[in-house]
Amino acid sequence: MSKTVMIVEDNDLNMIVFDTFLQAQGHQTVQVRDGSEVLGEVCRTNPDLILLDIRLPGLSGFEVVSLLKSHLVLNSIPVIALTAYAMPGEKKKILESGFDGYLSKPVALHELVEAVDYHLSALNSFPMSAANLKATRLLAA
Ligand code: MN
Repeated sequence: MSKTVMIVEDNDLNMIVFDTFLQAQGHQTVQVRDGSEVLGEVCRTNPDLILLDIRLPGLSGFEVVSLLKSHLVLNSIPVIALTAYAMPGEKKKILESGFDGYLSKPVALHELVEAVDYHLSALNSFPMSAANLKATRLLAA
């Protein structure tokens, strides 16, 4: 079943590489280039997974993940940081900020595939997206 991956990245070359590669893997993609547009685009396109750059115009990746993870329904969507920071302290900060994982740029494409497949695999047994699933749980509770 085809999954929708949102790519939030303000660098055009990175965006083209990630988008082309994920589409070649059979995924649908949604491109967002400004942090302040993420929440609205997530509600509009209902992605199964979000790849989120840290340094963005509008809102930073840290601010965006904070908004997503404090949201009652959207917090179930896996969010992977795309980061140029490779220091151990930054990795710790990223994971403590609510990200479900991180990829250091430049991203090796096999690492991108592994991370995306890993975070999507938890959703594979359900016919619904993560957000819909969470919403259904909330309605059933
Ligand atoms: Mn950036």
